[in-house]
Amino acid sequence: MAAARKPVVEVRRSQRRRRTVSAYRDGERVVVLIPDQFSQTEESEWVDRMLARLAAREGRLARSDAELLDRAGRLIKLYLAEHGAEAVPASVRWVSNQNGRWGSCTPADRTIRISHRVQDMPDWVIDYVLLHELAHLIVPSHNARFWALVARYPRAERARGYLEGVAAVSGTSLSD
Ligand SMILES: [Zn+2]
Repeated sequence: MAAARKPVVEVRRSQRRRRTVSAYRDGERVVVLIPDQFSQTEESEWVDRMLARLAAREGRLARSDAELLDRAGRLIKLYLAEHGAEAVPASVRWVSNQNGRWGSCTPADRTIRISHRVQDMPDWVIDYVLLHELAHLIVPSHNARFWALVARYPRAERARGYLEGVAAVSGTSLSD
């Protein structure tokens, strides 16, 4: 049986860590941070677990860009239909490097990026974040015309409340 290609793993032990384990990709390597008190068995168990988690997340990210585009098409049909091509983005994708905002839109090249932090939220919140960015393709600023477009989405107000709640709990200030 051919062995699956495993990434190079660098384990860093920290005396300040008690229980938390975290992992991130750094170029070709995966860095796994574990508490200093872990035994060798715990270390190898956690390395396997964190590699699986990382792979699952990356797989999900790759899959969902297509879903996100489908979702955009559905939202345009429902709420922005009369704008036709004006509301259609050139690309929509999930990004993990956008911690300060739920979503962003560059009207100049018609690209939309949605933060991975939105990925585990309910569908109706994802729809709101995406519709908000699609509306920016039509109206770049947050003016009355923009909010009138967004208000076509029945749960816009509720979704904004949800996002504000998440931002408050995580102690970060997040805007769109
Ligand atoms: Zn906005």
